Amino acid sequence: MYLLEMNHVRKSFNSQEVLKDISLSVKEGEIVSIIGPSGSGKSTLLRCATMLEQMDGGELIYLKEKAAWNEADGVSTYADKETLKKIQKHYGLVFQNFHLFPHMSVLQNIMDAPLHVQKRNKEEVHEEAMKLLKKMGLEDKAKAYPCQLSGGQSQRVAIARALALNPKILFFDEPTSALDPELTGEVLKVIRSLADLQITMVIVTHEMAFARDISDRVIFMADGIIVEEGTPEEVFSSSNVRTQSFLGRYG
Ligand code: ADP
Ligand code: MG
Repeated sequence: MYLLEMNHVRKSFNSQEVLKDISLSVKEGEIVSIIGPSGSGKSTLLRCATMLEQMDGGELIYLKEKAAWNEADGVSTYADKETLKKIQKHYGLVFQNFHLFPHMSVLQNIMDAPLHVQKRNKEEVHEEAMKLLKKMGLEDKAKAYPCQLSGGQSQRVAIARALALNPKILFFDEPTSALDPELTGEVLKVIRSLADLQITMVIVTHEMAFARDISDRVIFMADGIIVEEGTPEEVFSSSNVRTQSFLGRYG
């Protein structure tokens, strides 16, 4: 069963066509990496998938619930509020620059949405948040503020915060690219550990060895299109000229 389907997605900024008829589907439990040069539309694709950006055309479907579809005049219409709310519960997004709330402690950052958006019970949310912090190796940072954390610790808090909403699918937009190289490993390790939890993941990354290792499927994007996709073996040994030229730059 497909958890996410994007069909014929188009998006332009001003006159620049950033996503040109992109179709992709993600199965439950699947780990998909998206690789490609800077400016190829990877972030825009994730932003359309998570409705931070409105598509110009195409379909966005989560578990058979349509978030957006293509009208005859090419304008995307989004689902009604109730359906959108249901759909928004399906996914979480982890950004490149963490986006933690600076005025809240680590624990408050994690508990905020479960308490105020999901209106869940405080004790239960607290217990779960502490479990998540433990999983991230950050139990001792519960009371710390974001400014007191390293980049790697901040990103692990951001991952815990996304997981606190129990998403079916987690999107990562270059989760390690704002980190010093020595901190990248600790974040990749945490993402790897999520694979064991059967969380479906879509990961935009420049960490090629990681993508090769963790993914069920790799998608190579360039200039707003999917140039090719396949198993890591297929994509990393591709004879496609554009794929080879991109991968060549990553040694
Ligand atoms: P990637 O994540 O692959 O580096 P992006 O999706 O961020 O690529 O950007 C693709 C193209 O869209 C770039 O040329 C970028 O400048 C442009 N773009 C992205 N967001 C906006 C925006 N909000 N307004 C105008 N142009 C944008
Ligand atoms: Mg990007």
